[in-house]
Amino acid sequence: MARIVMKFGGTSMAGTERIRRVAQIVKAQADRGDEVAVVVSAMAGDTDRLVGFCREANALYDPAEYDVVVSAGEQITSGLLAMTLQALGAKARSWMGWQLPVQTGSAHSKAKIDEIETGALLSSMGEGTIAVIPGFQGRSPGGRITTLGRGGSDTSAVAVAAAVDADRCDIYTDVDGVYTTDPRIVARARKLKAVTYEEMLELASVGAKVLQTRSVGLAMKAGVPIQVLSSFTEEDAPVADTIPGTMIVGDERLAQMEKEGSSVERQLITGIAHDKNEAKITLTRVPDKPGAVAHIFEPLSDANINVDMIIQNVARDKGETDVTFTVPAADLARATDILENQREKIGFNRVIPDTRVAKISVVGVGMKSHAGVASTMFSALADRKINIVAITTSEIKVSVLIDEDETELAVRVLHTAYGLDAEG
Ligand code: ASP
Ligand code: MG
Repeated sequence: MARIVMKFGGTSMAGTERIRRVAQIVKAQADRGDEVAVVVSAMAGDTDRLVGFCREANALYDPAEYDVVVSAGEQITSGLLAMTLQALGAKARSWMGWQLPVQTGSAHSKAKIDEIETGALLSSMGEGTIAVIPGFQGRSPGGRITTLGRGGSDTSAVAVAAAVDADRCDIYTDVDGVYTTDPRIVARARKLKAVTYEEMLELASVGAKVLQTRSVGLAMKAGVPIQVLSSFTEEDAPVADTIPGTMIVGDERLAQMEKEGSSVERQLITGIAHDKNEAKITLTRVPDKPGAVAHIFEPLSDANINVDMIIQNVARDKGETDVTFTVPAADLARATDILENQREKIGFNRVIPDTRVAKISVVGVGMKSHAGVASTMFSALADRKINIVAITTSEIKVSVLIDEDETELAVRVLHTAYGLDAEG
């Protein structure tokens, strides 16, 4: 017997027909003798609709009332799933976030989970009743409904899995796993059997949007093994225990899986991610003297703008230099504004913004112990005459900034260069 938390996203819950398929999958898991808790999203599109109602009702809405409204989508799907399970002959009941409760802070619309009360939940599950829990919801210290931020039900699921000490948290979605790169760009992208939490964080934050990034960080801290898999399967599809999806686990667990021969053949590079949501800013003719760079980045950091890649060019003859860096495209206007306001203090000639850039990253824990990963990347791009504007590296990642128009070409070329293309 295992204890499994299953999570179903909005497309899996979109309508009673879809919910019936979800109920079959859940029941099949419970029929194996496992204790099961299910965390659900609202039907796809419903949360957007509810957010729209709030804006129409009052442009300056009270965040506490916003949470009352937008948490409702998950209340509906959890009740519907519980009654559909009952229709299939399973024992099931729903537990609202405030009933357990899922105790959060009081930052409405973006609350963080502090603790989940599991006493009543675990005894009900122990009696063979499937627990259905709405994702995204919590309860503030003052007893009001909170929500966790958009996409938050992934985090709810991982938090429930950590709280009940689950053997696995299966995240069912509309893709069947995590791929070596975006399959829409590279038809020969391969589904990965397993990735580490660290790799997933890099792949998620740079483009592979399968899971809310916060949920992966939480799983890593709590040591909860996650499996990403599809709910869009036929009735005779293999059960989740056979790991048809992608496991997201820690380093040791991965090594253990390799030893047990569960065919998680590891490559030096795990995946290639791309991100078009970065923008580049160049400041020309910045004085080349101590403190100049601090004057640029202090006000940006004060404004909570995340600077990623930075390059300072070689000084020109008159003791001046150009400084280039990237910020999230969504913060570009704010960033250039701030810099214009600091023009005198920083002392520069021009601010040149550019949104036509893309960040391409190669990610893999294997590179910790291997040289030559970056040079393979640079020569593969050079062979195709793709110009690199900026570079950053971490222990498990090398990223380059290139012209946005060359994104697809760069991803394809690198996927081949690191031997990631599927055979056939
Ligand atoms: N329904 C919420 C949203 O759309 C939470 C979730 O689905 O993860 O953001
Ligand atoms: Mg989601």
